[in-house]
Amino acid sequence: MDTALTEMAPEALPEGDVQVRIDWSTLNYKDALAITGKGSIVRHFPMVPGIDLAGVVEHSDSADWSPGDRVLVNGWGVGESHWGGLAQKARLSSQWLTPLPENLNARQAMSIGTAGYTAMLSLMTLERHGLTPHKGDVLVTGASGGVGSFAIMFLARSGYRVIAATGRPEEQHYLKALGASEIIHRDELASQGRPLGKTRWAGVIDSVGSHTLANACAHTREDGLVAACGLAQGLNFPGTVAPFILRGVTLLGINSVTRPQAQRREAWTRLAQEVDTDMLDTMTREVTLSETIDAADELLSGRIRGRLVVNVN
Ligand code: NDP
Repeated sequence: MDTALTEMAPEALPEGDVQVRIDWSTLNYKDALAITGKGSIVRHFPMVPGIDLAGVVEHSDSADWSPGDRVLVNGWGVGESHWGGLAQKARLSSQWLTPLPENLNARQAMSIGTAGYTAMLSLMTLERHGLTPHKGDVLVTGASGGVGSFAIMFLARSGYRVIAATGRPEEQHYLKALGASEIIHRDELASQGRPLGKTRWAGVIDSVGSHTLANACAHTREDGLVAACGLAQGLNFPGTVAPFILRGVTLLGINSVTRPQAQRREAWTRLAQEVDTDMLDTMTREVTLSETIDAADELLSGRIRGRLVVNVN
């Protein structure tokens, strides 16, 4: 199936009880898979990709929302099974809308997007299971990517000492500016390792999967916590149970797509408090709707640092 920029009549929009005028969207890893057709993301065609959007309610048949409300949407199958955010309008279920936090504008919210929201869900999950800064260092993999960049920022701002694993050591100044204290090369973790290794960290936020996740677990200290949220290296998990049964390590799965509204609002409230808006600008590149097709290839080949926001207008 080809990907193209095209104009469609608003009447073609899918079913939904609210209509949103989209101001900004963003390009996530999943969107790049959908646009390039490299992953089985899109459930049916034609599909408007874009798992995130931010804008203003134009029309509402729901008592919960009124025209003029500033909203954002992350996930819920938007851009996969329901037309998504890489467009100027969306018709959606009112239950998918989250209020835009007071102190963020739509561009900033999309600069954060699912990547930042997932990083925050990961941190909140680790903390809910007992992680605190005094327990030890936290490893962030896929460090220069969207999820990784925000994970570093939020962990550092919450007082954690962060070890960033990256394949781009040339980005060390960027990673240190985000808050990383130590940089390691991702090759250290990228291939088959031993079931257990020297303990190096108390917590992990992993957006890479595969051998990287297995090795991250193998180097996690007693009773440590590992949040698995991505698959940039691969979907497989070629590890052993040794870290879990011999060190009591806990592996925590992070699914941002179907989080209940209460958790989304909690995550976005904390995001809005903790995000460094100056840093947000330096980690964000802006593209137009027509540039997203080329940008998707760039993102999948690991050439994007931080985040891409999409100006849809
Ligand atoms: P990005 O492309 O922005 O970042 C991914 C990073 O992973 C890259 O920048 C690179 O970092 C690293 N990487 C890329 N390829 C490899 C490889 N072969 N081996 C090891 N590291 C690699 O993507 P996002 O941050 O947006 O998303 C990251 C992952 O998280 C994706 O798999 C995505 O699907 C998933 N995700 C899951 C969510 C959920 O709900 N669970 C929500 C959001 C994202 P560096 O150059 O620093 O090494």
